[in-house]
Amino acid sequence: MSKLSFLPAHVLSEKVRKGELSFSDITTEVIAQLEAKDKSINAYISRRLEAALEEAKSLDESLAKGEDLPSLAGIPLAVKDNICTRGFLTTCASKILYNFVPPYNATVVEKIKKEKMIIIGKTNMDEFAMGSSTENSYFGTTHNPWDYQRVPGGSSGGSTAAVAAGEAIMALGSDTGGSIRQPASFCSVTGLKPTYGRVSRYGLVAFASSLDQIGPIARDVQDAYLLLKIIGGYDPCDSTSLPLPLPEEQLTGKVKGKILGLPKEYLSEGIDPKVKEIVEKAIKVWEEMGCVIKEITLPHTKYSVATYYIVAPCEASSNLARYDGVQYGFRNPEYTITGQNPVIDMMEETRDQGFGSEVKRRIMLGTFTLSHGYFEAYYLKAQKVRTLIKEDFEKAFQSCDFIVTPVSPTPPFKIGEKVSDPLKMYLSDIFTIPVNLAGLPAISIPGGFTEQNLPVGVQIIGKPLDEYGILNLGFAFQEATDFHKRTPHGN
Ligand code: GLN
Repeated sequence: MSKLSFLPAHVLSEKVRKGELSFSDITTEVIAQLEAKDKSINAYISRRLEAALEEAKSLDESLAKGEDLPSLAGIPLAVKDNICTRGFLTTCASKILYNFVPPYNATVVEKIKKEKMIIIGKTNMDEFAMGSSTENSYFGTTHNPWDYQRVPGGSSGGSTAAVAAGEAIMALGSDTGGSIRQPASFCSVTGLKPTYGRVSRYGLVAFASSLDQIGPIARDVQDAYLLLKIIGGYDPCDSTSLPLPLPEEQLTGKVKGKILGLPKEYLSEGIDPKVKEIVEKAIKVWEEMGCVIKEITLPHTKYSVATYYIVAPCEASSNLARYDGVQYGFRNPEYTITGQNPVIDMMEETRDQGFGSEVKRRIMLGTFTLSHGYFEAYYLKAQKVRTLIKEDFEKAFQSCDFIVTPVSPTPPFKIGEKVSDPLKMYLSDIFTIPVNLAGLPAISIPGGFTEQNLPVGVQIIGKPLDEYGILNLGFAFQEATDFHKRTPHGN
């Protein structure tokens, strides 16, 4: 397979402008790659290949006429299937939305369209973004392009697998507790979770609204930055959107004198030795560039998974109450009338059949912890601990510029290995979850590979709104390494 569909968008755009390539060439290559690989990978739930080619052709015509096109025009993009696309299926990988066609576009989709990027299709995910492996999908598991026996991570596993396999140049994902960064780490791509409020959530199907954030998935930090600048910014349709400008500075890779905090709680036991080694090597790379390394402490880290698994299910149980079979989505047509109220019977059976087991588990957990008598003991307490976790970061950032950590305690694991043990699965987000609880920006960049050629990412956490800083530190690392340029075997 040609290397074209493995080049970053900024390189492809330049080649088109120089006349070395056409937009149709790029889209054609990406589609060829998708057709060759996706039977084994299952990154996409739905595709719009003909429409994509038509759009590419028409952009070629515009360019030939000398029209000015936006910088990412004609770049093939994959969109996670929990982001609403007008007139195009948006399922959240759930049976309950198997036929849902939104009547409106998410703000990010409007922005993508304005940029004239080309949407290739909607990607597979854990149902309603609940999971860390893309195994919880009504449409089947996504396979890791680096090793088909392994998971791509989750919940944005379809988006990261598509980019890693050259089935898209860029993608959009969403991150509630790690769902962009952890699969980015597992697939060796770059994934950015922006500061809460940076990117509009309007049209993102809500999972846990106080944690959810859409972000870019790309081949390198330059592309992640370009895509952030397109999708980010204030949106009056989202009440939590920040009315602040996006960063504009160029990435320089100048990081001399920057202080990198290493939380002692993160590199302790329970982490795979190879992951630890890769993170430590990355830190050396920055040290050689003149960064100062400093041990810090985030003492409430140990409570973050427990806190998240109260806050997120509470919000989810409320957000998912709307799927009742009445207005849209799946309805069980043959419900049994048990007596009292046939509407309730219909809703019960619809929800029973429409949701998968992980989603039901979360709804039950959330409903329980919000119920009368338990609210103070669980939800209120979790909110208080959330504040302590946020304060840990505030204190730490008084003495460092960035925090560097692993993304996940392990390299990509085998399909089936954790799916029947929710606690084990929940622990795979131990390093990413605190960032969402605190609303901070963080990025996963390709950090290296194990002996079995399995990808391992490195996480950089920034101060609120410092997307530029973390991207620039990532850029410096990228300039000194080639992990982001490697592609899975057989490509
Ligand atoms: N794996 C975590 C969960 O299942 C995070 C998911 C996400 O970020 N969407 O909740």
